[in-house]
Amino acid sequence: EVETAIKVVVVGNGAVGKSSMIQRYCKGIFTKDYKKTIGVDFLERQIEVNGEDVRLMLWDTAGQEEFDAITKAYYRGAQACVVAYSIVDRDSFEAVEEWKKKVNEEVGEIATVLVQNKIDLVDEAVVTAEEAEEQATRLNLKFYKTSVKDNTYVDDVFRFLAERYLAE
Ligand code: GDP
Ligand code: MG
Repeated sequence: EVETAIKVVVVGNGAVGKSSMIQRYCKGIFTKDYKKTIGVDFLERQIEVNGEDVRLMLWDTAGQEEFDAITKAYYRGAQACVVAYSIVDRDSFEAVEEWKKKVNEEVGEIATVLVQNKIDLVDEAVVTAEEAEEQATRLNLKFYKTSVKDNTYVDDVFRFLAERYLAE
């Protein structure tokens, strides 16, 4: 039996928690000052979906997202996508549509989720719940509110993507 492997790209403005999310999901750790491991393109985790082994390969960026320097190699062959922003970063919320567009331009329509991260900081939120829901509805994206710090709903994000991909 051939195992299913899914390349997942995680996009969004800098500092929204993309690297932390990948580390959390694949290694089970959270650190305050995560630095990308030089030379590592992706981390992976294997899960079972409907009795099938699925290998999720989570691609991290080199932290150059603000300079639009993410190379085509990063997107190449991507089968699923996380568009992430932070509840305490207004610019990152407003950049969501651009990130989705960029992914679609490179690889077409793929399984995608919208993730609002850092919900543990909800007291400092600069995005209202209504705005967030409205955006998710408008972009027609499955929407998760996560805290990578507290490990809230992180697993659900990637399980959803695997299920959606397998259902295609
Ligand atoms: P990236 O630039 O999108 O890869 O963001 P990082 O993963 O480097 O995270 C940026 C900062 O946000 C780091 O200090 C993380 O520890 C912090 N961070 C990530 N996720 C969360 C979260 O859910 N809650 C809180 N409070 N901080 C987070
Ligand atoms: Mg990063």
